[in-house]
Amino acid sequence: MTFKTLDDIGDVTGKAVLVREDLNVPMADGVVTDDTRLRATVATLNELSDKGAKVLVLAHFGRPKGQPSEEFSLKKLAGPLSQVLGRAVSFIDWEGDKEAVAALQAGDIAILENTRFFGGEEKNDPAVVERFASLGDFYVNDAFSAAHRAHASTEGLAHVLPAFAGRAMEAELTALEKALGKPEHPVAAVVGGAKVSTKLDVLKHLVGKVDHLIIGGGMANTFLAARGVAVGKSLCEHDLTATADEILDNADKVGCTVHLPYDVVVSKEFATNPPSLRTCNVHEVAADEMILDVGPTAVEALADVLKTCKTLVWNGPMGAFETEPFDTATVALARTAAALTKEGSLVSVAGGGDTVAALNHAGVGGDFSYVSTAGGAFLEWMEGKELPGVAALGA
Ligand code: ADP
Ligand code: MG
Repeated sequence: MTFKTLDDIGDVTGKAVLVREDLNVPMADGVVTDDTRLRATVATLNELSDKGAKVLVLAHFGRPKGQPSEEFSLKKLAGPLSQVLGRAVSFIDWEGDKEAVAALQAGDIAILENTRFFGGEEKNDPAVVERFASLGDFYVNDAFSAAHRAHASTEGLAHVLPAFAGRAMEAELTALEKALGKPEHPVAAVVGGAKVSTKLDVLKHLVGKVDHLIIGGGMANTFLAARGVAVGKSLCEHDLTATADEILDNADKVGCTVHLPYDVVVSKEFATNPPSLRTCNVHEVAADEMILDVGPTAVEALADVLKTCKTLVWNGPMGAFETEPFDTATVALARTAAALTKEGSLVSVAGGGDTVAALNHAGVGGDFSYVSTAGGAFLEWMEGKELPGVAALGA
């Protein structure tokens, strides 16, 4: 995998650099409620500013569907971004943008208005690509989380301007390459979460890539059902048992060991510490019970599997972790992975909205080798798909 980084960009003094970032942050009452994405921009934006570039931030915000509006304006993010960067950030509207860009000084940072105010942005319209390109001398893509879309600002620009990966993009690509591109074996994958149907392509791809496929969460129930286990009232996609069977057969053929739980935590109602809570063998789930977490014996065995592995990629919690005590397996396995990472025996990469929340809940979000907050792009990468925004960088 080869792509140019900011190390290759050369002298940018006084040059305008268009930097695609992800500023699509959650907001409530005009306040940014989670600034993770803003913090991810710091390395690239400040480095370019320090090098004397005129830094022009390109980003989308929400789904304005090609219509300018106050609601979706990026103007409100100049303040929060400035605070996170520790330097001034101005805002440039799509009206008078050429003049505003021309007036910038070396080292200045400005946010351009929402790229999706142009209908052609999401269509990768060459006219919109040109419109953006006319403002800059270089293009830097620093938004891995938007790289699964071939839009003007995420893909098109890389074909018309000298293109480079920003520092956050570079870190993400390097981590993902270590985890699934050219990983050190044995490799384990943990796939959990609610439903098999949302992760079929992930499972199919991983079977051919990893040595151990650990299936947990609600999706394990579909696999257990495929093996003839009665899963009671558990979340289970009975219409997908044939597909689950196929995945298991295929894993057998290619020498991928699939780990399904053999003990589970069940209860009759889905509530915090319910009175009907009990742990049992998967073959002892009653008709009126639900499987809500992987059991302690299975977790111990899975920890032993991780101890033999060099690489781990994780998407999806092992149980209904938002409700105690169904966070137990996820927390225990996450802590094992974190400890092995700290010891230096495991490279661990995790991603997925709920997965990131679960790792933080376990207190180990910072102890994995890399945690991706990219959501859709991370899942498509786990499916083995080529992301257009990454491909355009020559990666
Ligand atoms: P991610 O966002 O990390 O990709 P998913 O969205 O696929 O993860 O899955 C997360 C959800 O799966 C969580 O809300 C969790 O409560 C749910 N879940 C996990 N195990 C079970 C289970 N046994 N029964 C029902 N829901 C479960
Ligand atoms: Mg989710």
